[in-house]
Amino acid sequence: MSHVVLLISPEQIKAMKSHYSSSLAAKLPPGSIFSAKPPLCTVTAYKSGKVLFQGKNAELEAVKWQNGTTVAAPKKKTTSSASVNVHRYSPPANIGTMSVIGSDEVGTGDYFGPITVVAVYAKKEQLALLKELGVQDSKNLKDPQIIEIAKQIKDVVPFSLLTCDNPKYNALQAKGISQGKMKALLHNQAIKNLMQKIHPEQAEAVLIDQFAQPEVFFNYLKGQELFQANATYLCTKAEGIHLGVAAASILARYAFVKRFDLLSEKAGFKIPKGAGFAVDEAAARLIHEKGIDSLNEFTKTHFANTEKAKRLYQQKYHK
Ligand code: MG
Repeated sequence: MSHVVLLISPEQIKAMKSHYSSSLAAKLPPGSIFSAKPPLCTVTAYKSGKVLFQGKNAELEAVKWQNGTTVAAPKKKTTSSASVNVHRYSPPANIGTMSVIGSDEVGTGDYFGPITVVAVYAKKEQLALLKELGVQDSKNLKDPQIIEIAKQIKDVVPFSLLTCDNPKYNALQAKGISQGKMKALLHNQAIKNLMQKIHPEQAEAVLIDQFAQPEVFFNYLKGQELFQANATYLCTKAEGIHLGVAAASILARYAFVKRFDLLSEKAGFKIPKGAGFAVDEAAARLIHEKGIDSLNEFTKTHFANTEKAKRLYQQKYHK
């Protein structure tokens, strides 16, 4: 069942409620202002300003309100993926059915290992097949499933993978290039590479899984040769909006996991993902076994984990 979520101003929600007055539902879901059932659709407006359109006519119904309405700004200016982000780069309601270059990155929150960015070209004719192969939001998948799906789709869709290994990452970081800027540069390059690969064919649109506000994203790319697209969209949780982004996310994760396994091999023990205490312990062990300089090869050294690992190393190995 298809669904669309719009962020709509309180005045507009009032107008919607009177528009749907003949089909209002008696029972209200928690946190909602109204719920209505026009033909083949359920419309539910929430106090947060989100309006959810569900059912066969979800897109048809949503379009009525998407165009020419005042769309409420997000409450807080935040890049948190939980926030609803509406801006001029927000994708149209029918994005999920378009031929799209989708891009996503993995590894940004992990102390160990690289950042991997993948752009995938998913044509509309391939979307059913991708779904069939199990492509979906990778947040719902475990690594072994991701690896299985990745192996299948890597020969089905054209893609471009870029890996920023730890020594490179640390060198860029030391030059004052923020992680956000690195990601923007990698996305831009992966998309350009992919466009070259599929040339002369062109995607209908580019959809980037958003990690910064659009103006910040494009600011990072000032002075760079930007990819040229028919349309460019940025939105958070884009892997749930187009299978191209979902596939990109899966392939990026696959590349990350493979690189991570190599690092474990080099370390001589299994290194952990994330940035928690297990990571500090593993880094302390690395310092003990391979010296402090080895962190450059294995980790994103500017993370707070480095200092924690040094302290742990002192406590554990230098009593
Ligand atoms: Mg992402």
